[in-house]
Amino acid sequence: MIDVGAPPVSALVAAFVGVIGLLIGSFINVVVWRVPRGESVVHPPSACPRCGHSIRSRDNVPVVSWLLLRGRCRDCGAPISARYPLVELGTGVLFALTAWFAGPTWVLPALLYLAAISVALALIDIDTKRLPNAIVLPAYPVALALLTLASWNPGGEPDWAALLRAVIGAAILYAVYFVTVLVYPAGMGFGDVKLAGVLGLYLGWYGWGALFVGWFSAFLLGGLFAVGLLVLGRAGRKSGIPFGPWMLLGAAVGIVAGQPLWDWYLGVL
Ligand SMILES: [Zn+2]
Repeated sequence: MIDVGAPPVSALVAAFVGVIGLLIGSFINVVVWRVPRGESVVHPPSACPRCGHSIRSRDNVPVVSWLLLRGRCRDCGAPISARYPLVELGTGVLFALTAWFAGPTWVLPALLYLAAISVALALIDIDTKRLPNAIVLPAYPVALALLTLASWNPGGEPDWAALLRAVIGAAILYAVYFVTVLVYPAGMGFGDVKLAGVLGLYLGWYGWGALFVGWFSAFLLGGLFAVGLLVLGRAGRKSGIPFGPWMLLGAAVGIVAGQPLWDWYLGVL
């Protein structure tokens, strides 16, 4: 559970975590390009796709290098997509916001890990309509380990009920998506089912309300987006909008606002 009595993390800590996010964002750019191609994310070092020159480390500073080079390769002048600095900046902002939201608690590492894989998976799903096993499957043991640390809460009160809820939440969300894909195979795929288990871990850890709101928000937001595209004539019924980004966005809504929304809803009833 979030310790609402704790003082908010200082702007300094959020800024520090934000800078780490910029560096992680730089790595995510590599992951998003290489993982769908089955390439190693550590070797070889990044090179210009046109002239093949390795990127010098001084030209690999997130956002800053792109601005200084005016979005061009230092060697051949080939344009470098603005998407790279935007991903770095976006990851940095997301990390800072996550640190601000969670504060200096033991759940912060688990949430930062989720933030990082969310950016990578959302971009890969938009690019390729796939959620690679290479990212989703390791997320089960890693997220479980990090949420175990959060439940243990060294130096404070442990919350093992949250960890049990996380495991049950993973099973529930996996099963719900499994059935959804069986009933409506055109809408999503088994990549979504596997991701659902990971998100169920997090949402269950936060509470049953978070689990329900996280699940519901994905369909609400994704559905509104699809209807919007249809109304604007930008997509046909068969356009196949990737659902992974909506699952991740829905999970974020569930984590941040799910439990308060759920308690409020039950109060109204
Ligand atoms: Zn070049």
